[in-house]
Amino acid sequence: MAGIYIHIPFCKQRCTYCDFHFSTQLKHKSELMEMISKELILRKNEITGLVETIYFGGGTPSLLDLNELNSVFETIYRHYPVIENPEITLEANPDDLTREKVRELKSTPVNRFSIGIQSFFDEDLRLMNRAHNSREAIESVKVVQDSGFENITIDLIYGAQTTSDETWKKNLETALELDVPHISSYALTVEPKTVLDFQIKNKTLNEVDEEKQERHFKMLCQMLGENKFIQYEISNFGKESYFSKHNSNYWKGKPYLGIGPSAHSFDGKSRSWNLANNAVYIRKLKENEVPNQIEILSENDRFNELVMIGLRTIYGIDLNRIQKDFPEEFYTSLMKESQRFLSDELIQINDHKILLTEKGKFLADGIASGLFRVG
Ligand code: SF4
Repeated sequence: MAGIYIHIPFCKQRCTYCDFHFSTQLKHKSELMEMISKELILRKNEITGLVETIYFGGGTPSLLDLNELNSVFETIYRHYPVIENPEITLEANPDDLTREKVRELKSTPVNRFSIGIQSFFDEDLRLMNRAHNSREAIESVKVVQDSGFENITIDLIYGAQTTSDETWKKNLETALELDVPHISSYALTVEPKTVLDFQIKNKTLNEVDEEKQERHFKMLCQMLGENKFIQYEISNFGKESYFSKHNSNYWKGKPYLGIGPSAHSFDGKSRSWNLANNAVYIRKLKENEVPNQIEILSENDRFNELVMIGLRTIYGIDLNRIQKDFPEEFYTSLMKESQRFLSDELIQINDHKILLTEKGKFLADGIASGLFRVG
């Protein structure tokens, strides 16, 4: 089984914290979408198994019109073996989700929405320079639900300079009242060269408060845990049978094909990434060339990736797999390095899998790098 990821590199405006690849110049959108279909055709033999999931990410896939979306589906269904009931996710921004737009989307194979809410408070949304307001945030979820979609996830950001403990609690309460079955939530992170980074360096905005972010993360885990959400990945919470299949497959190390500018692909042994430049992407595809770079992963890379991803999920680091797929010394050194985290009760071993404890969840990245192989 495999997944297809399609990167739609367009947005209405630049959110202050964002370092994804996108352009706010929409005039080449149709041309670029034609090239996305072309890339799908050129790379059709890179996937050997059946396609189980299709994911439109970005950027802002809800900027696509019905024709653009349907032509991608036609290409996929004509050239790839897709299972009968694939999970098909579309990332959408609240300001795009009008009743008419959602009605149109109902006529496509899309069956899961990922809505970029980020906050239900205008103060936070203004700080982040999001294109929607708090009213649209709530309305968008209701419109999607009213149109008969039940597989919905929303994104929420915690620990922003404008978010207090009280407003974060209210954000979580609002999400619970809306009764969505899946929530992804991340701390506001200051990525280099973003507007947010610039504002902090310019002292027009305070640094993010890491202690507040830790408090918000604890509130998130507690409130969602009390409401039947399972934290199946550090930042992802789903009710039973609503885990993201696409992301779960990625975390389990299954292959995926990434189409579109800046998209990454993985075939089990090598990773490739497309050039993050819309104009060059269009030009190269017109010349029947896929503008990507390929890296064959070393044993250490593959091991470190399994450790990093495994530790962040409820699937854990699978010790059977480490023993089967890597030389014996990898297992031996992993067990040796694990000892200090075991005695600090940051990790536990259950069923031949290394898993984070509740305490360890706050230190996942540090623990993973302590278990990495270097050199
Ligand atoms: S809508 Fe998403 S991809 Fe676009 S700028 Fe905002 S965060 Fe980035």
